[in-house]
Amino acid sequence: MIAEEIKKIHSELPQGVELCAVSKFHPAEAVKEAYDAGQRIFGESRVQELLEKIKILPADIKWHFIGHLQTNKVRQLIGKTSLIESVDSLRLLELIDKESEKAGVVTRVLMQLHVAREETKFGFYPEELLEYFSARGFENLKATHLCGVMGMASNTDDMTRVREDFHTISDTHKRILEIAPDLQGFDTVSMGMSGDWPIAVEEGANLVRIGTAIFGIRNY
Ligand SMILES: *Cc1c(COP(=O)(O)O)cnc(C)c1O
Repeated sequence: MIAEEIKKIHSELPQGVELCAVSKFHPAEAVKEAYDAGQRIFGESRVQELLEKIKILPADIKWHFIGHLQTNKVRQLIGKTSLIESVDSLRLLELIDKESEKAGVVTRVLMQLHVAREETKFGFYPEELLEYFSARGFENLKATHLCGVMGMASNTDDMTRVREDFHTISDTHKRILEIAPDLQGFDTVSMGMSGDWPIAVEEGANLVRIGTAIFGIRNY
């Protein structure tokens, strides 16, 4: 079933849109099943769970960290990911940069935007991020590659609202590139989950993060 879902989603995704299979809370066997179906990018939201999976799963998996990253876990994560999608504060960004430099690696990250209505979601407000790029704060980074933005739409059945949220994320990405046209490789727009990814793709996503539709319901 996992293999079928992976193949189905890949056949539906337009050229140029990548799939991150969100395997959080699902066992390594489930990841392996998706891997055997050709999937290589997986998303995890907890550092411990990710480190345990890395130990037992194939080395060519590209791991994306997608959860809120606590500063006291940063060091453990550095060097383990292909992309940290969820940088939600400047403090976290600076720490990732510092630890990456110490470890002698370059860490690829996305800046997480907060556009959804829920109070609990992490991330930068669009204006905050635009301000950061206007002030060219990124020039101080030594061992971090800013690769783009990530965001989530409001958790609602109102698809008009969902589309607006995705539009805001995509638009913020465009505005950042206008503000700082010299940014290299700031080209990823990660948005869209099981329930809303087709809308996200219509609004400009080139990376979608899908869990439930592939692996089933999570038992937290
Ligand atoms: C869990 C999670 C997903 C996957 O959500 P599904 O609805 O299961 O597809 C995507 N993005 C983030 C940031 C998540 O935490």
